[in-house]
Amino acid sequence: MYQITLATSNKHKVDEINLIAKNYDIEFILPDGEFDPVEDSDNFIGNAYCKAKCASLNAKTNLTLADDSGLCVDALNGAPGIYSARYAKTAKERIEKLLFNMKDKENRKANFVCAMVVVNKKGEILFKTEQTCDGSIMYEPKGEGGFGYDPVFFVKSENKGMAELSDVEKSKVSHRAKALNCVLNWLKEYM
Ligand code: IMP
Repeated sequence: MYQITLATSNKHKVDEINLIAKNYDIEFILPDGEFDPVEDSDNFIGNAYCKAKCASLNAKTNLTLADDSGLCVDALNGAPGIYSARYAKTAKERIEKLLFNMKDKENRKANFVCAMVVVNKKGEILFKTEQTCDGSIMYEPKGEGGFGYDPVFFVKSENKGMAELSDVEKSKVSHRAKALNCVLNWLKEYM
């Protein structure tokens, strides 16, 4: 099994990514030691690179993968965007704030964005990609699956809420799945 460090402290993310990559001989593992990156870029790729570089410093693996993701809402000029995790204190409060800010909006279009960056032990970028999952913001939360903004995100291609999809269904259509598939295709050539 080829191991790659995943620059996150979110166990849910590691599980989601390992599920997407389940047909490959690759295991994504949590960073070794302290992982406290400063994300000071104004875009997803830049912030993914901040995380990748930070985790690669102590990585036991040759490669480190980082992702940075968020929800971009057209009627809110792309907000919460790179600030998705910091939009409000708790996941519940973030959803409440989003629905409040969207209450008079007819244009509900939104997309989840996921940027992924692969670096080597020196922190040099070997591969990067940015992918989206298109949809819209629902008027109220629905479904029990996923995390974050999933309960209020309607997935256009599936005609269902993101939180109504099973983990396996989400792993086929999400922004993270699309970005990871680009990384896995690149890895096939690299390894
Ligand atoms: P980060 O990529 O870990 O910085 O995550 C950014 C934030 O975007 C998360 O805390 C979530 O609020 C939101 N987010 C990213 N991906 C998803 C997803 O697949 N579902 C729901 N929310 C997400």
